[in-house]
Amino acid sequence: MKPRRLNRVAPRFSRRRFLTAASGAAVAAGLLGPVDPSRAAAPHVLPALPYPDNALEPIISARTISFHYGKHHRAYLDNLNKLIAGTKLSGLPLEKLICETAGRPEQAAVFNNAAQVWNHTFYWRSLRPGGGALLARFRQRIEASFGSVEACKKQLAEAAITQFGSGWAWLVSAGDTLRVVKTGNAENPMTQGLKPLLTIDVWEHAYYLDYQNRRADYVQAVIEKLLDWQFAAENLWRT
Ligand code: FE
Repeated sequence: MKPRRLNRVAPRFSRRRFLTAASGAAVAAGLLGPVDPSRAAAPHVLPALPYPDNALEPIISARTISFHYGKHHRAYLDNLNKLIAGTKLSGLPLEKLICETAGRPEQAAVFNNAAQVWNHTFYWRSLRPGGGALLARFRQRIEASFGSVEACKKQLAEAAITQFGSGWAWLVSAGDTLRVVKTGNAENPMTQGLKPLLTIDVWEHAYYLDYQNRRADYVQAVIEKLLDWQFAAENLWRT
């Protein structure tokens, strides 16, 4: 897999432009291929929210969740299904689809929508009403990598606050150590061979209804009150 630079600002396409790109250049690249009506792979589905839409209040309002999950997340899913319907990509699991299309400009539309579907599902799981327990064994891993839990949280906050424009802050596993990285737009660290453990969405749609331009307030509240460290530990030790 071609190494890719994190935090790269991917091109943003209008719907018409990315449909054109997907059906033109991508067909030429042989990945989307000619539409075959006999291919009827099941479309990707929107996973249910792991909690009621008001469960993260007062940190994240039900109104924000209703737009973020009900409109934005669903739109990425609907776009993805339309883009890959009847193509060779339609039968691939989501993670494989992301890695297959990463770094291919002609596949930017498919990659962006597929990664945003995955990133949002992972974001909802990264949050838990009241936060998730920090298990002793996982605390030790954090302390070994960052020195302290507070230092880890500080790096996460700094990454989330300083990400220029839309993107994500991540706690990831990189071999034997844990790291904090940030990515732009739809980018995902898994395309760099890193294992995502937790993420914070810093697209404006994640916080603007509740915090307007105060991204730092949203980030600090999420880190202190909602991050599910138990989910992170499960991801670290998941094979
Ligand atoms: Fe989002």
